[in-house]
Amino acid sequence: MIDVLVIGGGPAGSTAATLLARKGFSVTLLERERFPRFQIGESLLPYNNDLLDRLGVSVSLSEGPYTPKYGAGFVTADGALGYTFRFFENLPAAYHQSFQVKRAEFDELLLRNAAASGVDVREETAVTAVDLADSARATVTCANGERLEARFVIDASGHGAFLGNRVGDKKDVEELKKVAVFAHYKNVPRPEGRDAGNTIIVVLRDAWFWLIPVSADTMSVGLVVGRDHLRGCGLTPAELLEQTIAGAPYLEERMNEAERVTPVYVRRDFSFMMKRRTGKNFALAGDAAGFLDPIFSTGVFMAMKSADMVADAVEQRLRGGSMRLLRRYDRTFQGALDKYFRFISNFYRREFLEVFLQPKADYGLIPVITGILAGNIFATNHRAKLALFFFFVRMQKMFGVIAPPIAWEELPGPASM
Ligand SMILES: Cc1cc2nc3c(=O)[nH]c(=O)nc-3n(C[C@H](O)[C@H](O)[C@H](O)COP(=O)(O)OP(=O)(O)OC[C@H]3O[C@@H](n4cnc5c(N)ncnc54)[C@H](O)[C@@H]3O)c2cc1C
Repeated sequence: MIDVLVIGGGPAGSTAATLLARKGFSVTLLERERFPRFQIGESLLPYNNDLLDRLGVSVSLSEGPYTPKYGAGFVTADGALGYTFRFFENLPAAYHQSFQVKRAEFDELLLRNAAASGVDVREETAVTAVDLADSARATVTCANGERLEARFVIDASGHGAFLGNRVGDKKDVEELKKVAVFAHYKNVPRPEGRDAGNTIIVVLRDAWFWLIPVSADTMSVGLVVGRDHLRGCGLTPAELLEQTIAGAPYLEERMNEAERVTPVYVRRDFSFMMKRRTGKNFALAGDAAGFLDPIFSTGVFMAMKSADMVADAVEQRLRGGSMRLLRRYDRTFQGALDKYFRFISNFYRREFLEVFLQPKADYGLIPVITGILAGNIFATNHRAKLALFFFFVRMQKMFGVIAPPIAWEELPGPASM
């Protein structure tokens, strides 16, 4: 019998499998696709650096075709107001930099690294059934009819949450019923110097764009809008993307020479939480454990971080039988999602944006907000400052005294017929 079977070879699956194989367990990873395969989620966070180091891929990242990222800029669609949170100005040296990546390349790097660490990686092998009835084992059936037995199974199957859908008690996040429409473009100019590699978030009324320089000549451009807008706007996704770009002066100015080099992709309803992530013989990791709107580029970081916690918890479970770390993982992951949820749901509110785009330099708030944007979400020593930040947001809502108002009604919104 295998010790651990991992479903899915994205960042969560590769990370959990690598770490467990290095702890001495026999690990088999089943991946439905053949890598490299396209995936969205191209902006990494600096607080992932420690884990990338431990996995042994940092040098490959520095020497590979990836864009160094030193910060994240936010700007209104009319270009009138913006702020850039720079990691190197606000955070300890270990977190000054991250990367923008084409996920096909990044995910393949992690998967090959798992194989080199002793994981039995089987691509083009989709899991079609999992039997958890016997709490001492999991029986997994593949599309090719093969059945495998493992002492423990990790669902890292991503957004589709193959096992999580059955056992996780999944809950959609009502406030965040969004869709994303995106593509890659060439000929999109970048800022000068270190800011060239930044993610730029362009704020529209009730929508936003990402600009992520995924390689030396390619920009990932994506629009996130309410699901109902896409349904009711009378435009195809490609028309919605291109007409919204044309109607937003900040983007139109930068993209009038742009050439689209991929199809236009659509992702629907991506925010959900699981109420239960662990059991005696299973754990959910990465997107399969819960995912929130990608405004702060948290997905890959949370996927790999969850896999790291799961690896330690599975080791404890398999060596001594204890569920303690599995339960702690469940609570810790939920706590981080809750913190991000507070930021993400507020991001769609005018008063939040007014304070966020014009941050107060006093009270040490900028390093704390930059830290959140960099993935410093598991720390507990910034509670008072976060409370102060949200106090300012409430004051802005009630009295408008914290920051000058944004001309909200004049801000471009997503296109419609
Ligand atoms: C619009 C959008 C923009 C985003 N932008 C960002 C960003 O800028 N930065 C960021 O960090 N994150 C971003 N994300 C989130 C990011 O895409 C995910 O959080 C990340 O890919 C999760 O990694 P994972 O390993 O959990 O899942 P995945 O990367 O989805 O990997 C899961 C793997 O499981 C395989 N699989 C699925 N089912 C089966 C099965 N039955 N059997 C075998 N294999 C299976 C799949 O083929 C896949 O390879 C974004 C997400 C969206 C929707």
